[in-house]
Amino acid sequence: MREFAAMIIAWQKLHGRHDLPWQHTRDAYHIWLSEIMLQQTQVTTVIPYYRRFLERFPNLAALARAPLDRVLELWSGLGYYSRARNLHRTAQTLIAEHAGHFPRDVDAVQALPGIGRSTAAAICVFTHGSCHAILDGNVKRLFARCFGIAGYPGDAKVQAQLWRQAQLALPRQEVEAYTQGLMDLGATVCTRGKPRCAACPLNRRCIAYKSGRIAELPAARPRKTRPQRRTQMLVLVHSGQVLLEKRVASGIWGGLWSLPEIEADGNIRALCAQRYGAEVSGHEPLPTIAHGFTHFKLDIEPHKVMVTHVIPRAAAPGVVWLSLEEALGAAIPAPVRRILAAL
Ligand code: SF4
Repeated sequence: MREFAAMIIAWQKLHGRHDLPWQHTRDAYHIWLSEIMLQQTQVTTVIPYYRRFLERFPNLAALARAPLDRVLELWSGLGYYSRARNLHRTAQTLIAEHAGHFPRDVDAVQALPGIGRSTAAAICVFTHGSCHAILDGNVKRLFARCFGIAGYPGDAKVQAQLWRQAQLALPRQEVEAYTQGLMDLGATVCTRGKPRCAACPLNRRCIAYKSGRIAELPAARPRKTRPQRRTQMLVLVHSGQVLLEKRVASGIWGGLWSLPEIEADGNIRALCAQRYGAEVSGHEPLPTIAHGFTHFKLDIEPHKVMVTHVIPRAAAPGVVWLSLEEALGAAIPAPVRRILAAL
């Protein structure tokens, strides 16, 4: 196992990534932010978001003070918005309960909102150089292949086996280079499709490579057909502005601005009049947008609704009229962005 870690460390020093904006710092705020953004999102996508976020919220106190809306706005387009809501909650918790500092203890870090075992480990490794094993999606794949661990990594037993392997492989020294090396190898060499085994420092010991089982390891998620759902969204247009409505804080797209939704057999004119004080001259269907969630697929049927007059006082709270440009700059879900961008 020492040899495994030594190979990863040596490879990282020569071929790993050294110029990412969140490297060369021990600032827990910066490291935490990067780790949360990197969950489910690739490095190249994360970099501009990370920079913009730090410009607007240069420290924990600034983030904790900010309204959630501003945080969601900066997150807009990155997806998985619960990450942004948890960031905001964690910043407020750290200010209120930890004197504005990240705890040193890995279990205390893991107890914070939105921080799992692997993320807590990575934060502690890169902040203090302490010794903890990580196991993000890329690293699971690398371990499953290199050590021939069969089964779907989301399965509890397989996951436990991968964690044991991650613990066994952990070096006592140079844990930052080792951890970064695992991340870099998983992201750039041992990729899901077409891994670059010829350039991999582990190829002489990798079980999947030696036994020709790369395509089998790790096993794919057991196939389950995701249910298909359907909704209708209304794009109310009046004097060059569109109407956005704030979603409730919990559930899908919680706290984001979105377009009003209506039942399949709902009466568009009546709904617009009652809920938004909007008189409608006509409406027309726009192309359907398909969007995939982890647990279901959603078809959105948008309708462009031409509004001739709005009674301002009749508008419900949590509703705004914005120019198209302003709406596109707001914290809106990706499919809503697609609908508005196509207008
Ligand atoms: S040899 Fe290939 S499959 Fe094995 S760890 Fe390296 S890149 Fe992955």
